[in-house]
Amino acid sequence: MPEDVTFLIVGAGLAGAKAAESLREEGFDGRIVLIGEETERPYERPPLSKGYLLGTAERDTIYVHPETWYAEHDVDLRLGTTVAGIDPTGHQATLADGTRLGYTKLLLATGSSPRRLGVPGADQDGVLYLRRAQDSDQIKQTLQSASRVAVVGGGWIGLEVTAAARAAGVEVTLLEAARLPLLAVLGPELAEVFAELHREHGVDARFGAQVAEITGAAGRADGVRLADGARIAADAVIVGIGIAPNTRLAGAAGLKVDNGVLVDAQLRSSDPDTYAAGDVANAFHPLLGRSIRVEHWANALNQPKVAATSMLGRDVAYDRVPYFFTDQYDLGMEYSGYVEPGAYDQVVFRGDVAGREFVAFWLAGGQVLAGMNVNVWDVTDPIRALVRSGRGVDAAALADPAIPLEELAGD
Ligand SMILES: Cc1cc2nc3c(=O)[nH]c(=O)nc-3n(C[C@H](O)[C@H](O)[C@H](O)COP(=O)(O)OP(=O)(O)OC[C@H]3O[C@@H](n4cnc5c(N)ncnc54)[C@H](O)[C@@H]3O)c2cc1C
Repeated sequence: MPEDVTFLIVGAGLAGAKAAESLREEGFDGRIVLIGEETERPYERPPLSKGYLLGTAERDTIYVHPETWYAEHDVDLRLGTTVAGIDPTGHQATLADGTRLGYTKLLLATGSSPRRLGVPGADQDGVLYLRRAQDSDQIKQTLQSASRVAVVGGGWIGLEVTAAARAAGVEVTLLEAARLPLLAVLGPELAEVFAELHREHGVDARFGAQVAEITGAAGRADGVRLADGARIAADAVIVGIGIAPNTRLAGAAGLKVDNGVLVDAQLRSSDPDTYAAGDVANAFHPLLGRSIRVEHWANALNQPKVAATSMLGRDVAYDRVPYFFTDQYDLGMEYSGYVEPGAYDQVVFRGDVAGREFVAFWLAGGQVLAGMNVNVWDVTDPIRALVRSGRGVDAAALADPAIPLEELAGD
């Protein structure tokens, strides 16, 4: 690769940092510029709603690389810098201060941003979101002084924050519009497990709750009013109602965008020199035969290697089985696979569901689409193999803990 070749990575989160690492590992010796609008060097977000928020993990444990890594690997890391526009035809990016930067190939790793609550009063102080390290600091501080909070949204972030608040001794009213938390991602069978988990930990969980207004006094939130007129008093309101991919740059440049930057299995966009990875990428997945956008850590960790290799002109495809995890109270779980809402016809349990030590499988036509291990460990490899195989599996054997999963997966 000639020395004047520049690979530009926009977005210095996990995906951006891993792409820089992979480029060097793959032997790229051209220039790498990694630009991020946050002032922190690249860090991982899962601890922000878990160990770091709980106070059990220190700040230096969240970073992707040691501070010296970027200089040591000749990566030009520019923090506190926003890319305002890209011009794929001219191979140029424009920074917010007007500086122009030429590049040979571009990786969009711009991630995603929290969806904002669009009700009256939502812009008051004390209405908090969780995406960045300083958001986690602010919530941690709030939990130290608050006696009660309202959490809006029963998704992964809302539930993890709820668990952290309860661990801090704070009363929580959890407000979820659907009839159960996590309903769209897990379906009712497993959503109920999480609803019960939080009820058992003293959470005032209200499902089917429509937030109509954030109430407040002197510009500071003091509670929530629901559409049915119910009033909930709260010292702070923490909102976790999903995220939206940061596609503005791609869209303005005329790249194909549809629920993320559309990329092929090689993670190449509709422009041949522009790639995307992580939360922002809606990538064609060869195993699933369709495009999916995955908003999870493992995807941001692993896609960049494929993007980097692809940028170097080698023919590779990203086809890993999607994976994510959560920790809430004493429940740890891992999920491998992918199920569209309502796309399964059977859920099979193996183990002790009431004791929350089990594996659940989602099946369609006898084929395993996904598996989730709850407080059971070292089973993701056979679960992945089951999902990947696409073979029909006997449900009774799947439910029988005496039959090793490896045997069913044909390992
Ligand atoms: C609190 C929290 C807890 C989580 N917990 C889990 C978990 O338990 N399990 C799991 O699987 N996943 C979890 N996730 C999801 C996981 O963290 C994300 O999938 C991952 O961070 C995505 O990485 P990314 O690099 O694609 O994007 P991001 O982490 O969003 O990074 C993108 C970066 O690009 C920057 N950027 C955007 N536009 C520009 C621009 N124009 N110029 C310069 N910079 C720009 C952004 O500021 C950001 O720093 C969690 C997320 C959060 C917020």
